[in-house]
Amino acid sequence: MLSPAVTASSQLVSLDAKNRLGGSPRFLFGMNTAELSNWMVALAQHRWRGKQIADAIYRQRIVDVEGITTLPKDLRQQIASQGWSVGRPELVQVFTSVDGTERYLVQGQSPDGLTVETVWMPEGDGGETGDQIGEPDPTGDVSTEAGREQGKRWDRATICVSSQVGCAVNCQFCLTAKLGLQRNLSPGEIAGQVVSVLDRHGVEVGKERLNLVFMGMGEPFLNYDNFMAAVRLLVEEVGLSPQRMTVSTSGIVPGIERFANEPPEIRPKLAISLNAPNDEIRSEVMPINRKWPIESVVDAVRGIRLRPRERITFEYVLLGGVTDQPEHTEQVARLMRRTGLPVKVNLIAWNPGPGIAYSTPAPEAVEAFRKALAKEDVPVYLRRPRGRDIYAACGQLKRTVEKQGTGTRN
Ligand code: SAH
Ligand code: SF4
Repeated sequence: MLSPAVTASSQLVSLDAKNRLGGSPRFLFGMNTAELSNWMVALAQHRWRGKQIADAIYRQRIVDVEGITTLPKDLRQQIASQGWSVGRPELVQVFTSVDGTERYLVQGQSPDGLTVETVWMPEGDGGETGDQIGEPDPTGDVSTEAGREQGKRWDRATICVSSQVGCAVNCQFCLTAKLGLQRNLSPGEIAGQVVSVLDRHGVEVGKERLNLVFMGMGEPFLNYDNFMAAVRLLVEEVGLSPQRMTVSTSGIVPGIERFANEPPEIRPKLAISLNAPNDEIRSEVMPINRKWPIESVVDAVRGIRLRPRERITFEYVLLGGVTDQPEHTEQVARLMRRTGLPVKVNLIAWNPGPGIAYSTPAPEAVEAFRKALAKEDVPVYLRRPRGRDIYAACGQLKRTVEKQGTGTRN
């Protein structure tokens, strides 16, 4: 089911966001059932009141305390008078691409007023598989007509989620890097992006084909605790499956090592931003490689106990003349074989951004690269760029309000 806001307009819409966060520093959104239950006990209430609140804010998506009608009125009043509000992050602006992708500016829970970016990609690139060009998806993911029969405009969708405001990693090809790190997002701010987008599109959790990719602004493994707390909220409170979530890292080895120890019931799938065929080029385009070179990243990845049929994704951004040369395919193939892991490669043609002096390879060069890798028996997919015209594509998230090319805004 689509909300009216989605069907109404394909333009940039300033959403009617009354600032529910103003004046109240205490937010329910971000607390899990156990925390809410303990708090209820401290207020001399039944423990199960905590579960009622969790259901209300994470499953029924209620955004104000008054609306939690499973609680008695006097309890709601008591909570509100103590300065508590739901405080779910709000979508304050939406940009809509010609391809149906929506990019949102999301207002977080902090008084600094900084926004982050979240992207909705209907029928889109699941991120973890890449869009298939002429090849079946090995995970068995297929689009169905079911959605259309129900009058929806999408059969499956992917939400791309941010983990930090800006990023400290400084990859040379990435627009987000230009912001530097402004701050970490809290668990509620990370999970809240998802719940607000689910709400906007009327997504029925458990019934609809939905993927999450933690590939927005920021490096999730440099905000590890908050990132994983958000994943737990999304799995345990919202009811999403970790097997439909993929987290992408630039290769933060201590983070990967911690991730390897997460229980499979809550561990998302992993993608590594490889982006170069060898350490020399990788150190040039991703300076973090000097600290954690390719072999150290792969060693850490080997510590993960993969689920049946699970693969590690290696993302590879094709930078014209830098990482897209014919000799690079053989190096990437050798590297992939050396890992000894079940892998797949997601090729991403570089998405341009202002002030970044790389070039996007021609489609023929991208296809030639893909074919050469496939010939080496590497499972390889091409990630179709989504929402490039509204700066929603990979590496373009920088709170850009200008339009580019055919993008629409008003
Ligand atoms: N910080 C994490 C996740 C966010 S970036 C990481 O780097 O993995 C998500 C993906 O977008 C990464 O694979 C990154 O290499 C890629 N990317 C960054 N800038 C890009 C650009 N301008 N064009 C295409 N892909 C880009
Ligand atoms: Fe940060 Fe990822 Fe961009 Fe690198 S590619 S700067 S890690 S967001």
